[in-house]
Amino acid sequence: MTRPEPEASEAVCWPCGAPADPACAAEARLTMEARRCADGQGQPVIRGKRQDLIRLRIPRCERCRNRGYVSTAIILAGYAAGALAGMAIPSRGLMSVVGAAVCGLGLMFVLSAFETRAGFRRIGDYPPLRSLRAAGWRSAE
Ligand SMILES: [Zn+2]
Repeated sequence: MTRPEPEASEAVCWPCGAPADPACAAEARLTMEARRCADGQGQPVIRGKRQDLIRLRIPRCERCRNRGYVSTAIILAGYAAGALAGMAIPSRGLMSVVGAAVCGLGLMFVLSAFETRAGFRRIGDYPPLRSLRAAGWRSAE
């Protein structure tokens, strides 16, 4: 770690630094076993029977939210195209799974590399999210 940690603020879009729109925030859901009674580091913790949950909001502007939609659509299209291409090979569906994974994950990797090069900060690098993960919170699906 040589770079100073960029400042995180509710009012600033995390990926691009423009003024954030509260309606466009991304949400990261983090869980932890309830018996550990974990501290939410200032985030409200929803206590459950088996698992505690934090719904962490990551500030974004409208453009970055829309960019997220487009990326998701491209990645889903990649999965579908990969699955279709795989179906052309007789393999009882196995090649569809492989094709979908290769195309979908490949596109995800390419898009993420492109965004980093374009100067956007990744949602996963949002400092409160990183420090909660470091404290043992795991992403919920
Ligand atoms: Zn933005």
